[in-house]
Amino acid sequence: MSHSNPTDSVLLEDRTWTEVETALESGTDTAIVPVGSLEQHGPHLPLATDSLIGEELATRIARRLGDALVAPVIRPGCSGHHMAFPGTITVSASTLIEVLRSYCESLAEHGFETVVLLPSHGGNFAPVNTAAPEIADETGLGVVALADMERYMDLMNDGMEHAELTPEPVVHAGGTETSAILAIRPELVRNSAFEPGRDGPVDTSLLLSRGFKSITDNGVLGDPSRSSEAAGEAILETIADTYAADVRTGRDAFE
Ligand SMILES: [Zn+2]
Repeated sequence: MSHSNPTDSVLLEDRTWTEVETALESGTDTAIVPVGSLEQHGPHLPLATDSLIGEELATRIARRLGDALVAPVIRPGCSGHHMAFPGTITVSASTLIEVLRSYCESLAEHGFETVVLLPSHGGNFAPVNTAAPEIADETGLGVVALADMERYMDLMNDGMEHAELTPEPVVHAGGTETSAILAIRPELVRNSAFEPGRDGPVDTSLLLSRGFKSITDNGVLGDPSRSSEAAGEAILETIADTYAADVRTGRDAFE
């Protein structure tokens, strides 16, 4: 997305320090931290897929809230189960938690009062859930962890159903994420490389312990051809609406 005026951007990294100071003084008190990945997403989607989706969701949530900025997407995430595929970069859970801690300490020092942690990659949900209460204790920040993986995938599937496309039991590089990237950065989708992957139910504990390669040769779950830009838009709007409401509820509880 391009911005005609850089001060319209809700991305913290696009702002100057003086603009951040002004925003904090005029009531912006929430920072959203997308926790993404750099990992294989089949032969047709970029390694940054989860990071692009996380940043887009955070941006849409920040616009709904009106008093939030989006911190730089954390990438890479915990992607050990994708290392059989070239290009994937992974960090340990303890490293990810340390980065989250440093982000939140920095944001607290500048006067942010609420931090929203938004994992958009499966391997990051557990570390985020571990880190959230610790960080709240240590920093005094209100921490909203949007970190229920089943719910995240259910919301994505709600978007798919809204566009009359097939929901997926486990979301990874199939129609759901392909739709999302079609809505965010269509030029990054390699339509000519669409290949179906593993279909049907998946044992997620096996995925994590033995890795994706053990059940899908091309890294895909589901079928990327069952996708559309309209579905991607429905997915992003469904999650942004729900998560913005969650943040409002979470912040009310801190007061
Ligand atoms: Zn993904």
